[in-house]
Amino acid sequence: MPVEVPAPRHIRLTSHSSGYGALPIQWGAATPAERGPVVGTTTTRMHRNVIGTHSGSYSVYRALAVAAGALSRDHKADLTNTSPTDVIGPYPQWTDAGKIVSLDPWGATVAEVFAGELAAGYDIRPTIAVTQAHVILPEVIEALQSGRLQADGKFLTAGGAAMVTKVAIEPVWYLPGVARRFGCSEADLRRVLFEETGGMYPELVTRSDLEVFLPPIGGQTLYIFGKPRDLADPSVELTARVHDECNGSDVFGSDICTCRPYLTHAIEECIQGAQRGGVGLVAYSRKEGRALGEVTKFLVYNARKRQVGGDTADNYFARTECVAGVQDMRFQELMPDVLHWLGITKIHRLVSMSNMKFDAITGSGIEIGTRVNIPDALIPEDAKVEMDAKKAAGYFTPGPVPDADELKKAKGRELKS
Ligand SMILES: [Zn+2]
Repeated sequence: MPVEVPAPRHIRLTSHSSGYGALPIQWGAATPAERGPVVGTTTTRMHRNVIGTHSGSYSVYRALAVAAGALSRDHKADLTNTSPTDVIGPYPQWTDAGKIVSLDPWGATVAEVFAGELAAGYDIRPTIAVTQAHVILPEVIEALQSGRLQADGKFLTAGGAAMVTKVAIEPVWYLPGVARRFGCSEADLRRVLFEETGGMYPELVTRSDLEVFLPPIGGQTLYIFGKPRDLADPSVELTARVHDECNGSDVFGSDICTCRPYLTHAIEECIQGAQRGGVGLVAYSRKEGRALGEVTKFLVYNARKRQVGGDTADNYFARTECVAGVQDMRFQELMPDVLHWLGITKIHRLVSMSNMKFDAITGSGIEIGTRVNIPDALIPEDAKVEMDAKKAAGYFTPGPVPDADELKKAKGRELKS
């Protein structure tokens, strides 16, 4: 019996222009109509005007859902009642092609500003969503009980719930602008992105006419305490923290670092700031383990604790570099974009000791008043190694910078044998 060979299935390549129908994007243009919508649809290929697709890293799960037969390829999002709960912008920074290069300033309002294109059949998805929430944290309840915070029913309830506006943002990269931020050529950036993702997006090297890339990485979340529009008013006191994800500490309370204590301290500062008539902001970026990922991070923990002499601050960065090849991959160069999206021109109180964050924010033209360090009482015993190492490396501290001898003193807990 002859073996039946299945007919080869047609694969739709993305590497060549499919011609007619794609709307141009003019990054930084004065109006949304001139800027044009970001169309990363996988259905009507001829409408695509970007490289990659929506939902950041979750685009891979969407592919799985299609592969499993759970999701129709042709599904179009019904955007009824999904519009933002609070108006953000537009601000002058939105139409400055150099100020914002890693998110779509019009991403929250596509249903409104691109209503005509949506009606014409273009599949335009929001890359930003704005909603409201109550957040309840044990540290905030403890601050209420100890009298550091007072309930006012407006920003903080008697039960310890803080009222916030929260914003989810997916990355949208304007490649010429991203290349400029990193001081490399756009051609080099495209080539390295192509090669280092194992050739995942051929358009990076074949379609130089497409300048916008939706990278498969995590995005960010904003928590705003007070009125979002006050963020853009430099006469209103702004308390802000830009925080990079640390699942181990932020969620699970692991005590090897100061991430959660600093985060909850910032939330306490934001609530107090809002109650003084100001506004508070926590910008949370999905850059787990200095953007090295959690596997690398845990390998480093082991290397630190097993090294000769134990876990000390003088070898803190060296151990990371041994495993990862670099000390840090967060590259704060793109971080200020979200601050510009919010219209921020001045941060009165920055709840961070990081010199890299400080330099990135001020370097992008935003003024910073006071820097607020984490109170010593909030630093877990096992995290003293990290704190000393960071202070010695240039992190802001109102106290003394530890010298070489001091860096040998704090010892991290040993692994159980
Ligand atoms: Zn941490």
